[in-house]
Amino acid sequence: PKIPLPGEMFGTNRRNSSGCDLSDPGVRQPLLGRLERLEGRRWTAGEGTGPRCEVRAPYDTRLIVGEAVEATPERIDTMLQAAAAAQPSWDALGGEERARLLDRVAELFEQHREDFYSLCIREAGKTLPDATLEVREAVDFLRYYAGEARRLFTRPEQLPGPTGELNELRLHGRGVWTCISPWNFPLAIFTGPVAAALAAGNAAIAKPAEQTPLIAALAIELFHRAGVPRDLVRLAVGDGKVGAALVAHPLTAGVAFTGSTAVAKAINRTLAERDGPIVPLIAETGGQNAMIVDSSALPEQVTRDVVASAFQSAGQRCSALRVLFVQEDVADTMLTMIAGAMHTLRIGNPGELETDVGPVIDAEAKAALDRHIDHLRSHAKILCELPLPPGTEHGSFVTPVMAEIGSLADLDTEHFGPVLHVIRFRSGELDAVIDQINRTGFGLTLGLQSRIDTVRDHVQRRARVGNLYVNRNQIGAVVESQPFGGEGLSGTGPKAGGPHYVARFATERVSCIDT
Ligand code: GLU
Repeated sequence: PKIPLPGEMFGTNRRNSSGCDLSDPGVRQPLLGRLERLEGRRWTAGEGTGPRCEVRAPYDTRLIVGEAVEATPERIDTMLQAAAAAQPSWDALGGEERARLLDRVAELFEQHREDFYSLCIREAGKTLPDATLEVREAVDFLRYYAGEARRLFTRPEQLPGPTGELNELRLHGRGVWTCISPWNFPLAIFTGPVAAALAAGNAAIAKPAEQTPLIAALAIELFHRAGVPRDLVRLAVGDGKVGAALVAHPLTAGVAFTGSTAVAKAINRTLAERDGPIVPLIAETGGQNAMIVDSSALPEQVTRDVVASAFQSAGQRCSALRVLFVQEDVADTMLTMIAGAMHTLRIGNPGELETDVGPVIDAEAKAALDRHIDHLRSHAKILCELPLPPGTEHGSFVTPVMAEIGSLADLDTEHFGPVLHVIRFRSGELDAVIDQINRTGFGLTLGLQSRIDTVRDHVQRRARVGNLYVNRNQIGAVVESQPFGGEGLSGTGPKAGGPHYVARFATERVSCIDT
């Protein structure tokens, strides 16, 4: 088939941002110098009289990155009232004007990219390459959803009028969306839903993860600086309590949530029990992502793609590979090569360019992963385990592990870190493998490494997953090209960065005028 180029689809000529080329020493060296100068900077998030807490670097908890002020219940109420009051004129502004402002936000994000890189590293423990991808994705979301505002909200859609009447469909904002985002993409997934809500004519209250309020505060400041009305988009700092208060508030007209399946269900229950209108939920949750490797796969490629999928971002991506199914005939070769590649991974301070695997987000995450690894040591066969190097003792570092288990049923839950589980299968068992994957109930990403077209077509038909990646790694979905999101326990859809996302933040109104 003819493959359309970016921007060709809707004639927008939009291109994803080019990011930052760290392989160019002319770019890299000055950048490292500037990041070093930003190291001492203290940031703040939130305001008012709420409880204060220090934000510390996950790679060294002796380092204070800034301070956050939690939103009190009174403040939450005031913000929602003001946002609801500001929303109708924002809706009336129309798609073009809203898009112009979102494009301006994207420009400001690019101008402040180094502040964001610094915060991604220091507050979220991201490596520098991951930090550059993070900013890039946030900018792409802003520009793509700006394009969607133009496409969907500039003029009404004319519908057929069989008896000569004028039928028109218009999309409008619903009111105030509460956008609750995770720490693993503290800028991109924080920004995406807020930008979509605004593009669709809504106000938004943004509740970042409690671990990453500082980067979120800078993002919101840039929305305001770009000219988005202050009351229309606000930051609500805090933990799950703050999220729960926002969800329960009668002025929340929609919730966009990224995080665990359990919390998504709790939000759904709260919304269902609330008096008043039926409130929509868009949830992007976890996964139990697999990769299937058959005997036709190329070993070097499998090695590279497995290591990237399982260990990049310290395995803290919803899309990350958790369970590698490898065909028995080639398993020993493949696993030896993967273990060899794992031994080349550098674990350490995410601010250092040589680092491949940084810390996990906090001590609680580390404790849960360490418990799981301990369990694997006694109940599974450890195939590779990397020692933690000196210098990691003050941070929440977890040793990257590869362990062979019996079946997917041995995994009770998603383990959100650098732990790869391996299961062998025999030739002829492909359907049983796919059925096992489907039975988990999750349906986010699936990797397939196979050179056989009929196998690819078969997996594509049978596997119930949102994003299938063939002969490549399974992380790093690209805005517009690989809209991202799963089904079943993995989320409600629509897909982030896809053509059906923004419309789901809106309500549809039809007028029929007899002429
Ligand atoms: N979109 C990201 C990726 O493709 C994952 C998003 C997430 O972890 O929530 O890697």
